Amino acid sequence: MKKPFVTLKQLQKITQEYPTPFHLYDEKGIRENARKLKRAFSWNPGFKEYFAVKATPNPAILQIMREEGCGVDCSSLTELMLSDAVGFSGSEIMFSSNDTPTEDFQLAARLHAVINLDDITHIDILKEAAGIPETISCRYNPGGVFKISNAIMDNPGESKYGFTRTQMAVGFLKLKELGVRHFGIHSFLASNTTGDEYYPELARILFQTAVELHRETGVHIAFINLSGGVGVPYRPEQKPADILKIGKAVHRVFDEVLVPAGMGDVAIYTELGRFMLAPYGCLVATAIREKHIYKEYIGLDACAADLMRPAMYGAYHHLTVMGKENEPCDHKYDVTGGLCENNDKFAIDRMLPKIDMGDLIVIHETGAHGHSMGYNYNGKLRSAEVLLKEDGTTELIRRAETPADYFATLDFTGLFQNKH
Ligand SMILES: *Cc1c(COP(=O)(O)O)cnc(C)c1O
Repeated sequence: MKKPFVTLKQLQKITQEYPTPFHLYDEKGIRENARKLKRAFSWNPGFKEYFAVKATPNPAILQIMREEGCGVDCSSLTELMLSDAVGFSGSEIMFSSNDTPTEDFQLAARLHAVINLDDITHIDILKEAAGIPETISCRYNPGGVFKISNAIMDNPGESKYGFTRTQMAVGFLKLKELGVRHFGIHSFLASNTTGDEYYPELARILFQTAVELHRETGVHIAFINLSGGVGVPYRPEQKPADILKIGKAVHRVFDEVLVPAGMGDVAIYTELGRFMLAPYGCLVATAIREKHIYKEYIGLDACAADLMRPAMYGAYHHLTVMGKENEPCDHKYDVTGGLCENNDKFAIDRMLPKIDMGDLIVIHETGAHGHSMGYNYNGKLRSAEVLLKEDGTTELIRRAETPADYFATLDFTGLFQNKH
């Protein structure tokens, strides 16, 4: 059984201060998990996790990451601005973007971030826009299909990211000529992986490629970035990733491939988002409507604007009806939000305890790619974010949107004020 990180009693107190819906984050869980990741890769002196900002772009969360020794992985101008504001700088910032606007490159360069180029044509663009730095990374796309013991994990040949293998060698030589002295290799081949084999398999591909590229081009490869992709158990029957085991397995491949090639000084980087945050956040909502037609529906005060994953990917998120954890799951519900879109359903045909109006519903694993994917369709306002601190107190780390936020990009002068 999946248990929320808060009790009903705690939530009743929290909801007196902050009305539902809101995303709640568990500082204790976030910190313990970050420390575990660090321990898993402590065999590598240069190891660094660059938290993927897009997963949870909130300064309070980034500050916790910073205190745990993490850097940040940014993909856009505003993510760079946010990271700069929190105090990240230089090699604490990885800039892994694609289809990159010139001004984004310029800000990344001004912050002395490590730039991870997505394409060979970006070499000249970066050179023009901001100059070529001493350290740079290139994103590798091996093409074809990515398999782990015959199971197809993903389809890199269909993905828009990265350099081909040939472009990696040509690009490295060109960058070397332009003055780059330290190189990184990055790749992201599968998302939300549930087995413990993904990182070790990816590491083997990248380590072998690094050895070859070092031989072909003579460049110094300073780091290898395994990027994101370690998953979390969204379903109650799934097992969490064993990060200590994953770290050990990557270590074995490192000793097998890089050390004999004289490349034992390579630093390992990660850019995890989901693994760092998803389980340590939940969306707290209230059941506000019920309807009985061809199916049984429960309507929440949250909707897909607060959590898009079910509508977008058909993703499963576990629900807990607070205070009814021990009651039989003998009611079959569709649990919905209020968007005028029939895919706005947090759960379909889900067996749950009888839900009464006013019940608090916890939607699990929303700490990453939850609030951040929110949007304003149907004029829905995005929810607040609240941090449950280690001492049990709470802090509002993002207020809920108001109609004024929704209208902020329009010029209503004269019109709006007169009518309302
Ligand atoms: C999204 C993303 C990540 C984080 O992915 P998770 O699945 O959250 O671990 C890391 N790096 C890059 C370049 C990304 O686009």
